Amino acid sequence: MPSSSSRRINLPQAPNPVPAPGVSVQPDPWYGMGLRFHCTQCGNCCSGGPGYVWLTYTDMLRIADFLNLPVDQFTRRYVRQVSGGFSLIEKPGYDCIFLNRQDGKAMCGIYPVRPTQCRTWPFWNQNLASPDAWTQAAARCPGMCDADAPMYAPDHIEKCRTHPESPQ
Ligand code: SF4
Ligand code: SF4
Repeated sequence: MPSSSSRRINLPQAPNPVPAPGVSVQPDPWYGMGLRFHCTQCGNCCSGGPGYVWLTYTDMLRIADFLNLPVDQFTRRYVRQVSGGFSLIEKPGYDCIFLNRQDGKAMCGIYPVRPTQCRTWPFWNQNLASPDAWTQAAARCPGMCDADAPMYAPDHIEKCRTHPESPQ
């Protein structure tokens, strides 16, 4: 999701249960009844202004494998180094390099292997800080305020929120 520092956003494996450093476990969070979310494929979180889609090393290996590319070719073609980290490059106009637009929908071209930060959206620490923070983020993500969207249980939300590779 666009923010000052990063865009958004299911590893084949479950999110790591060890909380990221500095992220505290909330014993009685405001979202204790769960939260609804469903991606409408509007593309807001994969486009807009300049941003970063951060990549872990595992992300890069997985995406390169999905694209049937050697890792070095994948990184030369799709990755940039930023402040000691790695991000996907963008198309002109700042769409994520893997965002495909068709018939009014925005689709991720690497959806099954999309980066961790995309998988854990919208259950990021910053969005879960308070109901207001959630509402503010939902202003740009229609899937966060869809009353018919599937309900995610608190334990799933917490796994995403505290994932060490999820934006904090
Ligand atoms: S509904 Fe939300 S998560 Fe889905 S593309 Fe739009 S902004 Fe991104
Ligand atoms: S990798 Fe996919 S989900 Fe993530 S920002 Fe790019 S297009 Fe969107």
